[in-house]
Amino acid sequence: MSQFDPQLRRALAERVRYYHELGIYDFYRREPQNSAGAEVAENVEDLSQPELREEMPARKSAVVSRVEDENIFEVLTPKPEQGLADPAAALSVIREDLGDCTRCKLHKQGRKQIVFGVGNPHADLMFVGEGPGADEDAQGEPFVGRAGQLLNNMIKAMGLLREEVYIANVVKCRPPGNRTPERDECETCSPFLMRQIAVIKPKVIVALGAVAARNLLAINAPMSELRGRFYDFMPSGVRNGDWQGAKLAVTYHPAFLLRDPRQKGEAWKDLQMVMKYLGLKPRQPV
Ligand code: SF4
Repeated sequence: MSQFDPQLRRALAERVRYYHELGIYDFYRREPQNSAGAEVAENVEDLSQPELREEMPARKSAVVSRVEDENIFEVLTPKPEQGLADPAAALSVIREDLGDCTRCKLHKQGRKQIVFGVGNPHADLMFVGEGPGADEDAQGEPFVGRAGQLLNNMIKAMGLLREEVYIANVVKCRPPGNRTPERDECETCSPFLMRQIAVIKPKVIVALGAVAARNLLAINAPMSELRGRFYDFMPSGVRNGDWQGAKLAVTYHPAFLLRDPRQKGEAWKDLQMVMKYLGLKPRQPV
């Protein structure tokens, strides 16, 4: 892919995502007959025209996750966990594949350890945050600090236990000073999250905060627009068998709720929407 310019790569990624929405996952590479990539470039020009994009058939899902341009041909390679019936074993294989990861610059910016994810490999409900903080980095588990305590309370209020859900982040290494993970870091790390999601096959994913939501949904919108509805979500770049994907809801990050507790009522509304979908009985509001 290195011979293509970034615009072309992005357009190709868009096209692959479109095929995924149609349920097409297998691709092969045809050598260009004339000048390199000429035919592809023609299509890309078409894709760049808004009126032509508008003519594409209505999408079955409102939103699917983004196919990263760096990884658009990953669909060619079967993932090592594919074919494993036991999700716990499949998650172990993904963890092994991640190894002592140095794929993005976060590996050399002070992380103590990789924070892979924790919880029930068979979970119906999955929470996805932004990235590990200091406590998470120290303990190797997502959401264990004050924000984690609040997330635990939110989970309890939904009538569940922390052990019954699965919790992960978009990036698995702590960004220095708790800064927002950068785009290249999210793009490098999130394929592993996609594989985790594809193995767990949750019924509902709750994106905690705008960074998680924007990365999962590839929508650059404010929280006020992201919240209050379900999105159809299918992880990109992985085969999903008969699984039809998850519903994805967006709510505030617990760390934000600690800073602005007045928004807890709004978060509770988001969680109630999820509970209704999953048939959960409430315990007490957060
Ligand atoms: S954030 Fe993800 S991709 Fe980057 S080094 Fe850590 S595990 Fe690897």
